[in-house]
Amino acid sequence: MIRSRIEWIQSLKLKAIAWLAAIVLASITTIAIAGMPWVPVVGVALAAAAVSVSKLTLRLAGPVCLSCGHDLASEPASDQGIACPACGSIRSAGLLELRGRANPEDPHDDAAA
Ligand SMILES: [Zn+2]
Repeated sequence: MIRSRIEWIQSLKLKAIAWLAAIVLASITTIAIAGMPWVPVVGVALAAAAVSVSKLTLRLAGPVCLSCGHDLASEPASDQGIACPACGSIRSAGLLELRGRANPEDPHDDAAA
């Protein structure tokens, strides 16, 4: 089966690469054309890269479908993983879900509640 639509995780990677390329180009342009010293420009560029990539990948902290980006927090998990109701793909249970199954009475685990 040929997929004509780009998967959500691939588009997230492309967005992160585009942001990093734009930040690098802006930094090089600022240093070369405006004649700014390179140390503060590189510092600001590193901070901007960290913030932009962190904001892009914020949704990956929770259970989310890697094919379409649908939130899987309320979906039941089976032994094979979590089935996405939007696109039908299966996401394997993460380490937090596996830890919750090993210790169902763990008070720090939100997935078991
Ligand atoms: Zn999905």
